[in-house]
Amino acid sequence: MRFRNLTRRREIGANSYLLESGDHRIVLDAGMHPKEVGFDALPDFGPLPHEAADAIFITHAHHDHIGSLPVLMRKQPHTPVFMTEITGEITSGMLHNSVNVMTSQRMELGVQEYPLFTHRELDENRAHYIYRDLERSFEVPNTGWQASLFDAGHILGSSGVMIREGGSTLFYTGDVNFEPQTISMAASFPTEGIDVLVIETTRGTYQRPADYTRKGEKERLATLIRDTFDANGSVLIPVFALGKTQEVMLMLHELHEEGLIPSMPLHIGGLGTKITVLYDHYTDRARRNYPGFQLLEDVKMLIRPEKRGRRGGPRQFTYQPRTVYCLSSGMMTEGTTSNQFAARFIDNPRNAVAFVGYTDPESPGYRLRHAKPGEKIKLSPDLPAVEAHARIESYDLSAHATREQIADYVEKVRPKKLIMVHGEEDSQAWFRARFSESLHGTEIIQPELHQPIDLW
Ligand SMILES: [Zn+2]
Ligand SMILES: [Zn+2]
Repeated sequence: MRFRNLTRRREIGANSYLLESGDHRIVLDAGMHPKEVGFDALPDFGPLPHEAADAIFITHAHHDHIGSLPVLMRKQPHTPVFMTEITGEITSGMLHNSVNVMTSQRMELGVQEYPLFTHRELDENRAHYIYRDLERSFEVPNTGWQASLFDAGHILGSSGVMIREGGSTLFYTGDVNFEPQTISMAASFPTEGIDVLVIETTRGTYQRPADYTRKGEKERLATLIRDTFDANGSVLIPVFALGKTQEVMLMLHELHEEGLIPSMPLHIGGLGTKITVLYDHYTDRARRNYPGFQLLEDVKMLIRPEKRGRRGGPRQFTYQPRTVYCLSSGMMTEGTTSNQFAARFIDNPRNAVAFVGYTDPESPGYRLRHAKPGEKIKLSPDLPAVEAHARIESYDLSAHATREQIADYVEKVRPKKLIMVHGEEDSQAWFRARFSESLHGTEIIQPELHQPIDLW
């Protein structure tokens, strides 16, 4: 069995990995790069011939893991795509949205190849989606290999993938969280009998303070919301549409029930609402906390989202004081609802912005997060620069495991080979340093693009 990295660079990009043994091949994830546009945003599927993959596995429905799936499926038209049912249904919703985004980017940015796929293709692709339950072993067609999925605790439906060939086993974590969030439970991963471990390394440069507790972080957020309410201002929480929107909604509901934040309206927007409908649809059927809870019905603060705004374009929110706006995207990418809203929001010193997830160093969100009070910020090329007078705070409510939790897991598994993916060079350097002390029998690999790596 050989492994090849199809991701173009060592970073969090268009994740995709190839396993090959004899004439058999499977692909793990098919992402799209969040920062690149056009063909550059795709993985490099070069070493994979047409109609040669026996199976595709999708770990979860974030864009960096599914964004190029229809492009891959066009070249592998008969290949089944295995994933959990929730991942499949959310993938469909995310990719239809992606067609709309690419269609407007074709006009705004002049990207001729967009959209890379159509709504119709997506509907046809669904015939090849095959849903599997967690922790049930099944056969990978035509290969003689076995596979199983394990809850990764990252977002609803997320899973790690185990592949067994003969007596040898590989486990690919996808994105993982080893501690419970408000909705997602902690990952339930195997630790025994894994020869090759392919692991995400997202947070290798982040050192969590020794006195950190998730409860403490929630209470800090509650204090910000209370203070802002008392000052007659509003709070903007930029969030990813999938996962973070729903986690924050339920967290605000909890804080409200506990009497830690006052009664005030909560607005969510755009794609976040569509994904929330799916979270509610699968409320009884997923491994999760609060089974049966309906976010769109049961979160008392929520103003039921109205359908407004031109098709494909972000809805315009009107500003009101003493309101929480939970808007995507989390990195405040140009053209998104949170980006446009912030341009009319951050100059008011009564307001506050609460960051609750990862922001890429080149994103507008990162620029705002690190702005000095009163600094002029250009959030988007088509908007004037604004002075940032709002209070800016950050909270560690990540959907990714900390580096220590990942390292502890790896040290428990003690694989023969460890392949590090989904992280920057600096992040992976931290893991290398730690494992040089603790894992003497393990070969540690940072795979280059297309480099064939013999597994067993
Ligand atoms: Zn993810
Ligand atoms: Zn990811």
